[in-house]
Amino acid sequence: MARSHNFSAGPTALPMEVLTLAHEEFFDFAGTGMSVMEISHRSEVFMEVAYQAEQDLRDILQVPGEYKVLFLQGGASLQFAQVPMNLLGNKRTADYLHTGLWSGKAIEAAQRYCDVRIVASSKASGFDRIPDVSGWNLNPTAAYLHYTENETVHGVQFVDAPDGPAPLVCDACSSLLSKPIDVARHGLVYAAAQKNMGVAGLTVVIVDPALLATAQVFTPDLLNYARSIDAQSMLNTPATFPWYLAGLTLKWIKRSGGLEGIHRQNQAKAELLYRTLDNSDGFYRNSVQAPFRSINNLPFVLADAGLEKAFLRRAEQAGLNGLKGHASVGGMRASLYNAITLQAVEALTDFMKGFARVHG
Ligand code: PMP
Repeated sequence: MARSHNFSAGPTALPMEVLTLAHEEFFDFAGTGMSVMEISHRSEVFMEVAYQAEQDLRDILQVPGEYKVLFLQGGASLQFAQVPMNLLGNKRTADYLHTGLWSGKAIEAAQRYCDVRIVASSKASGFDRIPDVSGWNLNPTAAYLHYTENETVHGVQFVDAPDGPAPLVCDACSSLLSKPIDVARHGLVYAAAQKNMGVAGLTVVIVDPALLATAQVFTPDLLNYARSIDAQSMLNTPATFPWYLAGLTLKWIKRSGGLEGIHRQNQAKAELLYRTLDNSDGFYRNSVQAPFRSINNLPFVLADAGLEKAFLRRAEQAGLNGLKGHASVGGMRASLYNAITLQAVEALTDFMKGFARVHG
């Protein structure tokens, strides 16, 4: 079986061990004679899958006991609206840090529900950094402060979670489970599963229930966190197969040394690729300021943009997939999520050095 190296921004590669386990129990899950996809979400067997996934997530992220964990649908994008619907209470403003395409989308969505204040923006410099905290304009009466821990398109990542007077809300879509995070410092953290936690169709929300003010009156039950908490994320039929796959992926993370072990591997992978870019005599370039370079998504361009098509074509021929940059910025992007091995990154950097030798 020939498996490609997959550098896609998500959905992306799953760990081989996870695929193998899912394959092994595909037709007969836990002796039921049925696939996990074929059994009721309310069956004891599935409830155990659901419970175990939550416990493992809590263990790995050290989620404070009083926090609630929700397994929802609608992707991280739905959280852009669901957060203000549930957290505004009787406040009318929320603070947002604008650090790239995804925080921009979160801002746009929230503007329907409240007065969004932009605390700081790096738009003027092409989203190449996290704006210096000395210039932040925090509003102490904001319902919450929203930030995007890792900007998947621009490849910009926070070094530390921001500090501020308002409860902290984190879009951790492309970085949750790739490095340690202090959940207790946050009021709410959300991420879709298709990057580091399994497959598309599942969104995890971790929330301090003390923050759950009365949801806006127009909020449908399915988008009301408090209702989902009461129903243990089963107000309606949940995404059972993605939930199960998240469970397998979480066990794999535990076996891989937990967040510390995973983080070390991710740092080594990112360092190797950044080194290759920086040592290419300008053939390749990543323009994010060094401290804020993402370990998850590494965008880069070729000095000669005319070579991009050939680069992508040759890369695919070499079994290196998913390297095309996001349409809004062009160029290339290598996403090095948890399941991408160091060997895959070595294959990529070897290819890149060879391509630069031929065309440089
Ligand atoms: N936030 C970030 C940081 C993302 O990278 C993405 C998806 N790439 C989203 C939100 C939206 O996620 P979804 O496609 O699951 O709605």
